[in-house]
Amino acid sequence: MPVVLHRPLPEGFVPKTCTVVRKADGWYVCITLEDKSVPLPEPVPVKRAVGIDVGLDRFLTTSDGEVVPIPRYYRQAQKHLARQQRQLSRKVKGSANWKRQATKVACLQLHVARQRKAFHYQVAHWLVGQYDLLVVEDLNVRGLARTRLAKSILDAAWGQFLDILTAVAVKRGKQVLRVDPPGTSQNCCVCEERVPKTLSERVHDCPRCGSWDRDLNAAIEILKRGLRAVGLPLSGCGGSWFTSPLKQQLREVILGSSRLQPVRA
Ligand SMILES: [Zn+2]
Repeated sequence: MPVVLHRPLPEGFVPKTCTVVRKADGWYVCITLEDKSVPLPEPVPVKRAVGIDVGLDRFLTTSDGEVVPIPRYYRQAQKHLARQQRQLSRKVKGSANWKRQATKVACLQLHVARQRKAFHYQVAHWLVGQYDLLVVEDLNVRGLARTRLAKSILDAAWGQFLDILTAVAVKRGKQVLRVDPPGTSQNCCVCEERVPKTLSERVHDCPRCGSWDRDLNAAIEILKRGLRAVGLPLSGCGGSWFTSPLKQQLREVILGSSRLQPVRA
């Protein structure tokens, strides 16, 4: 059977499983190989730790004040997809036109999903390259506090990202730690006092410590919880905010790549 083999099978590996999948744009075969002589990565000692807060208007904010925006091509592709789905709903179900449009929609959905996955891998490699311990929120609990729509959007993307981040980290001997989220956005990351705020309030304003970005506050709080959980000191693990005045300037990090091009409508 003719196949497109995009990577040769390496010598000395034993094929273990073979999965055949049918996707909108064709058939795929996935082969799992095993070689017992490949060593497991050695755990890396924690020198740099980071807390990561996830959001709906930003993809994520780190405890070092770095912001990864949601890429624009992603929203564009979604708009385009919605338009094609509307067209599909106007066609007679089961007709030739309907079938053609259904394939088009399925291919677009695949494209959007692949774009998202490629973006997740990029962000994961960028983070794992810089840090040895990555503290994130365990989202299952947090989702309850949010609206239903927000939850579904966030859950789908964040769940996949966490899996990818963990896989990328394990390969390099690094650690991903999940902490309980309740209160991360409400507590002041410096004095631990509760500073209530609604979802629309973008600034954390503590009467004792001052004001700074709400997601930065949450990210630092997440980092503190993670370090506490593993028994590491708060300072010395990349926690420059602890000894110096809190950075209030956020730095936008745009992870550009030629592989991630906008969808042509
Ligand atoms: Zn405070």
